Amino acid sequence: MTTTKTAVASPDRESRCRMYSRRGNPCANPALDSDPNAVQICIRHAAEVLELIRERQANLATDRGVL
Ligand SMILES: [Zn+2]
Repeated sequence: MTTTKTAVASPDRESRCRMYSRRGNPCANPALDSDPNAVQICIRHAAEVLELIRERQANLATDRGVL
């Protein structure tokens, strides 16, 4: 008698992007990081976030006159 412990990855456990489209539909793209503790967004939304950070940093730099 052999007991096999196979970790079957259930499709329900697959990490999906948590972002929503402009129309309010959940983003269907897979998350970049399957770690449940990580931020779960797809590469497209990650790129949008990066762009937002760049804009904010540019604004902060001009507002404060630093950087
Ligand atoms: Zn997404």
